[in-house]
Amino acid sequence: MPELPEVETARRLIADVALGRRITGVDDADTFVCRPHSPGELRDALTGRTLTAAHRRGKTIWCETSGPDDSAGPGPLGPDLGIHLGMSGRIVVTAKDGWVAEGGDPPGRDAQPRKAEWDRFTLEFADGGPDAAEVTPAQFRALITKGSIAVKARLLDQSKIAGVGNLLADEILWQAKVAPATPVSRLRRTDADRLYRALRSVLASALAAGGGEHTGDVIAARRPGGSCPRCGAEMVHGTVGGRSTWWCSREQAA
Ligand SMILES: [Zn+2]
Repeated sequence: MPELPEVETARRLIADVALGRRITGVDDADTFVCRPHSPGELRDALTGRTLTAAHRRGKTIWCETSGPDDSAGPGPLGPDLGIHLGMSGRIVVTAKDGWVAEGGDPPGRDAQPRKAEWDRFTLEFADGGPDAAEVTPAQFRALITKGSIAVKARLLDQSKIAGVGNLLADEILWQAKVAPATPVSRLRRTDADRLYRALRSVLASALAAGGGEHTGDVIAARRPGGSCPRCGAEMVHGTVGGRSTWWCSREQAA
C-alpha cells in the first residue's frame, strides 16, 4: 500500500512532468476507480484544460486545472482533480521526451512488467502521438515514412509516436540496421517493417526491466572507442535531429 513518501513521489512526478500539457483525451470508463462520477463526466470536465498544480495532504493528491481554453492567464479556473492511490495505485507519466516515469506503490519483488490493460484512468496530452507500445504496423509505417526528416528525428517526435527517447531510438536504429540520418522518404517498406519489429522488441525489453531504458544491447557501446556488439566495427558519433547519436560504422553506414 502506498504510504505517504510514495504518494509524495507520485505528486512530485505529476508536478514535474504533467503540468502545462493540454488534455486531449480522458479515459474515465472505470466506474469503480472514477466513483462517484459516471463515465464521461471527468472527460467532459477536463478535456481542453491543463493541470496547473499538484498538491498533497496526507495520502490525497489533488491537481488544479486551467480554464477551458488552456489559457495560463487570469480567468475562470477549472475543477480540481482529486486522486487517491488506494491500496496499490501508481501514477505513470510519459514525459514529452518519451521518458516513462512511475511513482506510487513500489513494485513488489514479483512485479510484472506494466501492461496497458492495467491502466484504470488515463489522461492523454496534446503532445502525445500513439503510444509506442501500442502503435500498429500500419500506423507505424504511415507515421514513420511521411516527409523527408531524418529517421532518428522522426522516432523522437513525440507528436508522431509517443514514448521513444534518445537512447531507445539509437537502440531501435541499430537493431534495424538503419542509418540514423536516413531521410524517411528513402525508407523502403522492408526498412519500415524492420524498424517496427525493432521498436516492439526494444520496448518489450525495456518494460520487462521495469520501465528502464539502459537495457539495450548497443547502449553500452555508445562511447568513444566502443565497438558494435554485433559485428565488431567501430561505433561512430554525431548529432542527428539535434541529439547525440551513436551508430555502427559498418552496418548503419549512410
Ligand atoms: Zn555492426
